[in-house]
Amino acid sequence: MNFLEERIMKDGIVKEGNVLKVDSFLNHQMDIGLFDEMGAEFKKRFEGKPINKIVTIEASGIGIACVVARHFNVPVVFAKKSKSINIDGDMYVAEVESFTHKCKNQVIVSKKFLGEEDHVLIIDDFLANGCALQGLISIVNEAGGTVEGIGIAIEKGFQVGGQVIRNLGYQLESLAIVDGMDAATGKIEFRK
Ligand code: 5GP
Repeated sequence: MNFLEERIMKDGIVKEGNVLKVDSFLNHQMDIGLFDEMGAEFKKRFEGKPINKIVTIEASGIGIACVVARHFNVPVVFAKKSKSINIDGDMYVAEVESFTHKCKNQVIVSKKFLGEEDHVLIIDDFLANGCALQGLISIVNEAGGTVEGIGIAIEKGFQVGGQVIRNLGYQLESLAIVDGMDAATGKIEFRK
């Protein structure tokens, strides 16, 4: 088991509805030492790629992305969730359906902060059905930039997102892949 899998075993809580709660160390209270280890691991896994920007989505991707960015020495741009329908032409826009909140959000990135010169590493906390990632990929593509890779803390391997994104040909690196979990027993099974 790697450092993140060990932490999930120790502090993760399996909830009904295929939700893994990791709010004591990942997405509410945040363990920055753990994020730092994640940053070092992503740096290794994406070695040699010409990454000059990290893109993530608010809210829970931001903390991880910022610590990862220290390892790559690049800026972070986060896609903002916006309820407004009147989005002007200065923004890239994508529609994202939230797995946890079961609602649709438009996410936006200013054209000032993403362009064809950008070689992007996308970072997020969870991968479930892949909707958030597809939105971020479409924004980078619309900007004319290049997605060099995708780094995820926790992938839920029993949901379709991982397969969909890998089939599109992206280098997707998830530090922990949960292949099964049971809310009744609390048992969590990781991919070997
Ligand atoms: P997707 O778009 O891949 O279906 O879902 C990804 C987003 O939903 C992540 O950014 C994350 O915020 C949230 N999410 C999905 N599954 C879980 C989960 O099991 N636990 C938590 N805490 N968040 C999740």
